[in-house]
Amino acid sequence: MGNCKYCGQPAGFLRKKHKDCEAAYNKGIEKIHGAIESCLSDNRSINDALEEVRDIAKNSYISEGEFPTVVKRGWEGAVEHAFEDGVLTEEEEQRLSAMAEAIGFDKEELYTNPAYNKLVKGAVIREVLEGKIPERFKVSGALPFNFLKSERLVWVFQSAEYYEMRTYREYVGRSRGFSIRIAKGVYYRTGGFRGRPVETQKMVHVDTGLLGITNSHIYFSGSKKRFRIKYNKIVSFEPFSNGIGVFRDAKTAKPQYFLIDDGWFLYNLVTNLARL
Ligand SMILES: [Zn+2]
Repeated sequence: MGNCKYCGQPAGFLRKKHKDCEAAYNKGIEKIHGAIESCLSDNRSINDALEEVRDIAKNSYISEGEFPTVVKRGWEGAVEHAFEDGVLTEEEEQRLSAMAEAIGFDKEELYTNPAYNKLVKGAVIREVLEGKIPERFKVSGALPFNFLKSERLVWVFQSAEYYEMRTYREYVGRSRGFSIRIAKGVYYRTGGFRGRPVETQKMVHVDTGLLGITNSHIYFSGSKKRFRIKYNKIVSFEPFSNGIGVFRDAKTAKPQYFLIDDGWFLYNLVTNLARL
């Protein structure tokens, strides 16, 4: 006879849990996540909300050991929820920060948490939309960019992949050669003609390096390529889930692509900074 991993009572032959206990446990997790999510916008204090959450845990077989993790997952859900209605507001940012503190995230854990990362990025976008130049990015060490005096760094992406769209022209039909029948029994073979030109476009990975975003330029610095693009030279941006395309006004300019992990952030950042 095994014992139920939730309530600790005998669960029956070859069984490790009661169905009802498991259902109560899952329901408890759902309720905790719901309570933390609504804590984002309701008027009660964060401590009251956490008190309720503790009660739910006690009544749902959620152990003290796993409780912090359950609550932290709930907070991550609340961050996602804050983005559902569009821009992250200042109130949402402050409330989520206070919640993170009350929940007991330590600094290191918070800084490496993807939801916290998203929270900071959301705040950066909001500030740019409000016409401010965000100063939330802290650089440790020297950057390989030569900024102008008036320029302010907003963000740096590491390991950005830089691609260029290149046009290849090839002559189709040349290599095959072909034969013309001139008269019965006589063939002229023509081999060296050029055929018709066909242009194909390919995205070519040129380099990987640092992508710096300032209030006036996009900077790239890799092992082979280093350059900056001024926003007022850019005609349009193309959004991708994992990056952006940049189209400049010069006829000779090739479309350029920067791939990072978070296209949403980069696109919103540069399109709005370009408008400032
Ligand atoms: Zn049980």
